[in-house]
Amino acid sequence: MSKNSPTPPLDHNPSRIMPNKLTLESALQFRCHPGVSCFTACCGNINIILTPYDILRLRRALNMDADEFLLRFTTPVYLEKTDLPGVKLLLDEGGRCPFVTPEGCTIYPHRPTTCRYYPVGMSYFHEAPENKEATAVSEEFYFLVKEEHCKGHEEAQTQTIAEWRRDQGIDESDAMNKEWMELVMRRKSFGHQATLSEAAKRIFFMASTNLDKFRDMVLGDSFLATYELDAATQQKLREDDIFLLSFACRFLAATIFGVQDQGLKIKEEKLRQKMERIKKDQAEAEGRAEAAYKELLQDHEKLKKQVATKKAKGKKKSA
Ligand code: SF4
Ligand code: SF4
Repeated sequence: MSKNSPTPPLDHNPSRIMPNKLTLESALQFRCHPGVSCFTACCGNINIILTPYDILRLRRALNMDADEFLLRFTTPVYLEKTDLPGVKLLLDEGGRCPFVTPEGCTIYPHRPTTCRYYPVGMSYFHEAPENKEATAVSEEFYFLVKEEHCKGHEEAQTQTIAEWRRDQGIDESDAMNKEWMELVMRRKSFGHQATLSEAAKRIFFMASTNLDKFRDMVLGDSFLATYELDAATQQKLREDDIFLLSFACRFLAATIFGVQDQGLKIKEEKLRQKMERIKKDQAEAEGRAEAAYKELLQDHEKLKKQVATKKAKGKKKSA
């Protein structure tokens, strides 16, 4: 746009996303602090999707188990442009965040990733190679959301996007969210071509929102009878939430997207049983197909005889 181009009316840009692509080195003139006239204006009428790490961080700070946290502070939602179920922050009756007070955010050091990013957004584009010789195309860039009510843009402080990310703890959040975000993006790239079974959706929801339940599942008899998990791994799953979170993402990648994972091996015995079951099912299906074919042949023979008898009767009559 040239210097003299008219500024597009705001209603043509309801998301208030500025058209410039930003990089880590781009300058960001912005500061949010209790002195701004709009303080906490952005903590209402919002859609804050919670990542598994957001949930973990929040419930640790609130000293709550997953069930209680999910019930009190979240509501189920489909993750943007996917059929994957997740949760978002449940707003109060007035449409405000349950953690906001006139003095600010009561859980500020533990706030969700979305709150840390605002007013910066990140876009990640990835296109898989069309064939083995081609290379994948991926691009990551940032953009600015400039809403009228947000006066932080009028503050003098300037920093780079990289400095902003560090200051807001986004680097740490993104590192923790990475594996899960990759699953969501992978699903997004499928569009609506492939449907996900209800069982797969249920397991995705459980692993993404309720790590307590996921832990019970992976340390339960049925899971341990199926997968090879050594004692040290079981111990880590029992004690280390971050390891459990990463394991959950790997499990989802393997079960939903068929990603090969050496650390998630099905026991030989189970594999053998499964193969036998498949063979048995196949033999039964072949048996059923053969019986149906024989039945068809018999019907065909019957029909032939009926036609022949009819013809013979017709000849007799005409004679
Ligand atoms: S979690 Fe904190 S920063 Fe985020 S919307 Fe709620 S009060 Fe605002
Ligand atoms: S509207 Fe902008 S400046 Fe005001 S509190 Fe929210 S982020 Fe800070």
